[in-house]
Amino acid sequence: QPITSSRKLVLLGESAVGKSSLVLQFVKGQFDDYRESTIGAAFLTQTVPVKDGNFVKFEIWDTAGQERYKSLAPMYYRSAHAAVVVYDITSAASLLKARAWISELQRQADPSIVVCLAGNKLDLADSQRQVSTEEAQKFADEEGLMFREVSAKSAEGVEDMFKAIADRMPIDSPAAKSR
Ligand code: GDP
Repeated sequence: QPITSSRKLVLLGESAVGKSSLVLQFVKGQFDDYRESTIGAAFLTQTVPVKDGNFVKFEIWDTAGQERYKSLAPMYYRSAHAAVVVYDITSAASLLKARAWISELQRQADPSIVVCLAGNKLDLADSQRQVSTEEAQKFADEEGLMFREVSAKSAEGVEDMFKAIADRMPIDSPAAKSR
């Protein structure tokens, strides 16, 4: 009997790095250049197959707008099983902001949380890159984080990233399910 484990995932990062776009690409396979930034958290779910025929159902909290309502943020990530901390590879400042979010998670989130550093807008790498892959990879290694470069626009790496996170989620035991 397949087991579906619900796992809360949050996206954190500076405004306009593409958090909402990554969620939209992962859940709906869409990208919208002119989508207005959402204010407040949107909630979407997406189910991913993992090993042994089981499934992880991500409950995704897109915390766009958190910059304005910073005091609301801890409730988003305190109980999260996974966090995607997003920066924009064309913005060095956005990597600094990502570093700050990672410190915040290290202080406030559950120690078992799975964190992935995600460098978004990889489609702009040739013309506008400000953050090298090596620099971000080194930081992720030092902090023990997963690391991916992705593009919400071209979809490159997006599904792979969420699947890799799902693979690291603990699966509910069958006994726990029947209780
Ligand atoms: P959020 O504020 O972090 O949720 O960012 P949004 O998802 O609202 O995206 C901010 C802007 O960046 C929008 O204009 C998006 O169309 C654009 N954007 C998001 N992801 C990408 C991407 O992978 N490549 C490019 N070129 N633009 C992107």
